[in-house]
Amino acid sequence: MRELSRFSIRQLHNGLKRREFSVREIASAFLTRIEETDSRVRAFITVQPEQVVKHAEDLDRKLSSGELGMGFLTGIPLALKDNLVTQGTRTTAGSRILENYVPPYDATVTKRLRDAGALVIGKTNCDEFAMGSSTENSAYFSTRNPWDVSRVPGGSSGGSAAAVSSCQVPAALGSDTGGSIRQPAAFCGVVGLKPTYGRVSRYGLIAFASSLDQIGPFAGNVADAAMVLQAIAGHDSSDSTSAARPVDNYLVEVGRDLKGVRLGIPKEWFGSGLDRTVESAVRAAIGRLEKLGCSVVEVSLPNTEYAISTYYIIAPAEASSNLARYDAVKYGYRSPNPKDLEDMYKRSRSEGFGAEVKRRIMIGTYVLSSGYYDAYFLRASKVRTLIAQDYANAFETVDALVGPTTPSLPFKLGEKTEDPLEMYLSDVYTVTANLAGIPAISVPCAITDEKLPVGLQILGRHFQEGLLLRIGHALEQDLGLERPVLPAKGLKDLKDLKDLKDNE
Ligand code: GLN
Repeated sequence: MRELSRFSIRQLHNGLKRREFSVREIASAFLTRIEETDSRVRAFITVQPEQVVKHAEDLDRKLSSGELGMGFLTGIPLALKDNLVTQGTRTTAGSRILENYVPPYDATVTKRLRDAGALVIGKTNCDEFAMGSSTENSAYFSTRNPWDVSRVPGGSSGGSAAAVSSCQVPAALGSDTGGSIRQPAAFCGVVGLKPTYGRVSRYGLIAFASSLDQIGPFAGNVADAAMVLQAIAGHDSSDSTSAARPVDNYLVEVGRDLKGVRLGIPKEWFGSGLDRTVESAVRAAIGRLEKLGCSVVEVSLPNTEYAISTYYIIAPAEASSNLARYDAVKYGYRSPNPKDLEDMYKRSRSEGFGAEVKRRIMIGTYVLSSGYYDAYFLRASKVRTLIAQDYANAFETVDALVGPTTPSLPFKLGEKTEDPLEMYLSDVYTVTANLAGIPAISVPCAITDEKLPVGLQILGRHFQEGLLLRIGHALEQDLGLERPVLPAKGLKDLKDLKDLKDNE
């Protein structure tokens, strides 16, 4: 039998068009795959088999009666990170405080995917309120890296990355505040794109740090990521920070060659702290890009050394303000039998939030407090401008920047949980794109001898998602690293995962 769960969006779309299989068959294939693998991978907090099957049958009916035309995402199963609200479906943001929260509305991205005919198959695990780099801060369980289940999938969108990596869905959505799409994409050997701030509506994204948050796609290959981005990008009157600018045709961009593209390598990204294996994979990939027609020069981002401290002031500051809404009055967890109102706030928040979230609320409140505002938040905001200026300067001479997505290979579960600073440091190459608001993509660029994936990060000017997809696609085609061929190169496939389960 054909393994439909290995198919890309494009292959599923083409097969549906030729009526080689039905939406119902697609839905069953992916639901089965989830059932067979998720006890190992643990990507999903919620899966909705009945709703998905019903929706699939409905789509089949409408397609055969001609009531519905077929777009790229019609009948395609997708997973959403559990901080994207879904009407009628529990949305937890990985937190106890939202354990029983059933949103009365859809996020704009959810609505756009549904309007495009996609099947929302389930909600994926993430670090609590998207705070983390390993998905170990989820209040529910840790997701595993499908390449090696003793390792983390990255975070905070680890569930979405692992789901795509293990062929549980062809594509998924995540959110990226400081790397939460790109880093797990790199760790799981899939494509992950953080769009320009404002390119995708944040309406219905449970807020972490509102000036940094963006929603973006994960997929098994670059063209599929382009299709998903196409469906979710564009202005939305419900998000005043969404850009009115028209959306490019990403699929057209994807097909273009790389002649004349000028790439810059930030020299500060190749210093100490970068794993040797990651470095040589990234340098080799850049060499391939040169062969494909790009010119490559070294550039400087001199404020890189302040990236982590700047981000870890601004993000917690905004988080502490955003998370003030969880007062146990309007929705969310409420501690039983409080003494009085203040006790209710205190107990509900103490019991509802996990350790990392509390740490961020405390840091954020501190850096915003009147005595320390100037020394921390104000100063970080100024350095943020310098970081954005570094990029603007670099983009005067080059069209895109290339470098590692992460300083290391996927680390072991538990390896960094005792030391928050260690965990924060792993975000060094990703946080600055958010601070500057520019788009960035991570594409798989190598599989190491240990059979672990390495990601190449490509960054561009504001609204240049098309160029990033184009560069990523050319590299992917050159290296032959689309997800469907990964199992042959080491992805623990369905059978391996089953064996593991049986051996336990
Ligand atoms: N790892 C970073 C953090 O913990 C980024 C998280 C994200 O992008 N949501 O804040």
